[in-house]
Amino acid sequence: MSERSEFDVLVVGGGPAGIAAACCAAEATPRVAIVDDNPALGGQIWRDEPAPSTSQSAIWYQRLARLPVQIIAGTRAFAQAGPHILVAESEDGVCELAFRKLILATGARERFLPFPGWTLPNVMGAGGLQALARSGLTMRGKKIVVAGTGPLLLAAAAHLRQSGAEICLIAEQASRRHLIVFSVRLVCHSSKLQDALALRRELAGVPYLTSCWPAAAQGKEKLESVMLRRGAKTWSVDCDYLACGFHLVPNTELAALLGCGVEQGRVRVDDLQQTTVPDVHCAGEPTGIGGLELSLVEGQIAGHAAAGAPDAARGLFAKRKGLRRFAAGMDRAFALRPQLRSLPQADTLVCRCEDVPLGRLREHSSWRAAKLLTRCGMGPCQGRVCAPAVEFLLGWNVESVRPPVFPVRVESLTTTVTGAPPTLS
Ligand SMILES: Cc1cc2nc3c(=O)[nH]c(=O)nc-3n(C[C@H](O)[C@H](O)[C@H](O)COP(=O)(O)OP(=O)(O)OC[C@H]3O[C@@H](n4cnc5c(N)ncnc54)[C@H](O)[C@@H]3O)c2cc1C
Repeated sequence: MSERSEFDVLVVGGGPAGIAAACCAAEATPRVAIVDDNPALGGQIWRDEPAPSTSQSAIWYQRLARLPVQIIAGTRAFAQAGPHILVAESEDGVCELAFRKLILATGARERFLPFPGWTLPNVMGAGGLQALARSGLTMRGKKIVVAGTGPLLLAAAAHLRQSGAEICLIAEQASRRHLIVFSVRLVCHSSKLQDALALRRELAGVPYLTSCWPAAAQGKEKLESVMLRRGAKTWSVDCDYLACGFHLVPNTELAALLGCGVEQGRVRVDDLQQTTVPDVHCAGEPTGIGGLELSLVEGQIAGHAAAGAPDAARGLFAKRKGLRRFAAGMDRAFALRPQLRSLPQADTLVCRCEDVPLGRLREHSSWRAAKLLTRCGMGPCQGRVCAPAVEFLLGWNVESVRPPVFPVRVESLTTTVTGAPPTLS
């Protein structure tokens, strides 16, 4: 039998959106908790960041520390046990988290597209390699090609360079024209403009090629070189690592499991960040990729709204509107170009958990049929990597979701407070 805790406001996800949501909720209501699957809060951007006391992250951490918010770290919500009850797993076992109001702030992950050689050792996600460097992987003297699309490539490249790596080049699939239009928008957002200028300084001298992408990763036992394509030209660059990502994908699975409407890969929310399910709010990247500032503002709105203070939330609507406009511009600038659909060959693995190549997927007409007959998306990552790729490559609807939303221990599926298994509808 597992433990059950009860909260007025439960926040799933302890990144910037979740921290902001919990602070605003806890300033107006008791019994607020954040559950996050990592040992420390901070999400993708703040988790391992050494924070000077004046930084934005430190200011939010200090605000959170002054409030009676319960932090449930190293714990992952994976199913629901009934209305207003989530089930979560940690190293210590399974627990039930009952809530009056729920705020989903589950963030985003990198999008990977398959190309020949992408499963070779040392071909990594750009954010993933950055995270490894933050947690101590030696980068000094390593030659790195950074490729794919989106602003994360620049942030990752700058960090890897600071860690002592040599960035051979950054290959951005977006066109120069799209990026110029996007850059003009930066002028209206002074903090983003400053970030962009700082990145430019940090990456001075590093070639940044637009309309350029990785055609193949090459090597015997591990990566030795990357073949790049730009227009009709292809060439190879020797390197130790390829840091590669094609922008981000919202983590919508838990919201979908709870029955929240998801449209075009984003959780649908109203002005108060309320989803289509009563008492369930959503904030940050699951509602669309918008960056740190938008996650913070949406988190605050969701926190105020969940704590019954809609007027405080309304004061942030104008700021959110400007940031959403910026996010829409980012979506347009870094939209994947159709040529990337021809990157994988018939024998290129798409589902690396279950070894399913593109040719086998093409024998089927839908994600469901392919899952049933090839096990694509049924391995340890539960489709987190291959589903967004398949959606882009084959145009299939991949939005079906079943519990558990993460792989869990068998005993976690069978143990709840009531002794009944979590709802596996
Ligand atoms: C790999 C990666 C690297 C990035 N690096 C940068 C960078 O260097 N600079 C930059 O400006 N932006 C970066 N970004 C973008 C940045 O993460 C976002 O702009 C911002 O952090 C979003 O905040 P968030 O709170 O919405 O989500 P996140 O910061 O992603 O936080 C979501 C949290 O929820 C947790 N979670 C998700 N599901 C569950 C669950 N079911 N149970 C429990 N916990 C759960 C996640 O583990 C995570 O800790 C990066 C994004 C990614 C994916």
